[in-house]
Amino acid sequence: MNSINHQIRLAARPAGVPSPSDWELTTEQVPVPDPGEFVVKVTYLSIDPAMLAWINATSSFVEPIAIGAVMDTAAVGRVTASNHPGFAVGNHVYGAFGVQEFARSNGDGVTKLDPLLAPLPTYLGALGITGLTAYFGLLEVGRLRGGDTVVVSGAAGAVGSVAGQISKIKGCRTVGIAGGPEKCRWLTQDLGFDGAIDYKSQDVRRVLREHAPNGVNVFFDNVGGETLDAVLTQLARGARIVLSGGVSQYAPDRVRGPANYLSLIGARASMIGFLTPDYAERYPEARAELAGWLRDGRLVSREQLLEGGVRAFPDALPKLFSGQNIGKLLLAVP
Ligand code: NAP
Repeated sequence: MNSINHQIRLAARPAGVPSPSDWELTTEQVPVPDPGEFVVKVTYLSIDPAMLAWINATSSFVEPIAIGAVMDTAAVGRVTASNHPGFAVGNHVYGAFGVQEFARSNGDGVTKLDPLLAPLPTYLGALGITGLTAYFGLLEVGRLRGGDTVVVSGAAGAVGSVAGQISKIKGCRTVGIAGGPEKCRWLTQDLGFDGAIDYKSQDVRRVLREHAPNGVNVFFDNVGGETLDAVLTQLARGARIVLSGGVSQYAPDRVRGPANYLSLIGARASMIGFLTPDYAERYPEARAELAGWLRDGRLVSREQLLEGGVRAFPDALPKLFSGQNIGKLLLAVP
């Protein structure tokens, strides 16, 4: 077995999207588990937009990653050594293992996975935080009702593509906003969205009036900024705006408030933020329903796998901010 653990550490705090020089590739011996611990060989790493907020230290709800620390991320992997009674060698597991090939764990926050129920990458896609964010954001925070008109931004991304599909499953008119014709085609032709708006070539505000003539009941927003402002002009009475995230705002120099927020008054609308881990106790019930939809073919979990192992991480993260992903962006770690 390999005895070297390659890791990616934060070398400098970037002002926006990081460049390769903001990261350092380091090596150490593969750790040995102490009593009550086990070691995981990481196989797939999650690449997330929120990483930008963690490294820029702009997040109000997580501790910033320290300079010199191994970059945080959720991952799946396989137990290769264990001194822990609850985890055996060979178990497939999910946890916050970081951008490295091997991680040592005491089991906190780690869950066992069934590779027969779904392919392992799907546990970072529709069955992971991605799918759970779409599920609770739309159904609980957005209080979705059948017949609603639902708009999703970042709709061809990981969370957005699942949110839009859940909206369709629940019988709602569903419009996605995404960048480029290929993504918009995927939403309408493959995922069954009722409409898609290419924000890079279309006037979102104008086209949205055609897609949602009676107004938007639920806006599931992953993007913020100009897209949020455009949707704010087309709210139905009692609309719920679900703030899942704001990819266009995840750097200190980018944040700007919504200009059209006063439309919330006339529409008697609400704008609500949420964090998926608040629903952790209900993950099993949500996962069971998501897995059922996957099995029935009503839900598609699309994962985009990048090769190259942890060394490829510095080039992987910026892809999310230039829209080079469709579905969930993952890094395979051989
Ligand atoms: P993603 O949507 O797969 O990837 C990011 C996408 O954002 C890109 O594909 C790109 O698509 C779009 N984008 C990038 N820059 C943009 C800009 N300036 N303006 C408009 N669109 C832009 O990422 P994800 O993992 O699914 O995350 C989506 C959102 O969910 C993020 O905001 C994330 O923070 C949030 N989230 C929230 C929670 C929670 O607990 N609240 C948990 C997980 C994730 P285009 O090609 O369409 O531009």
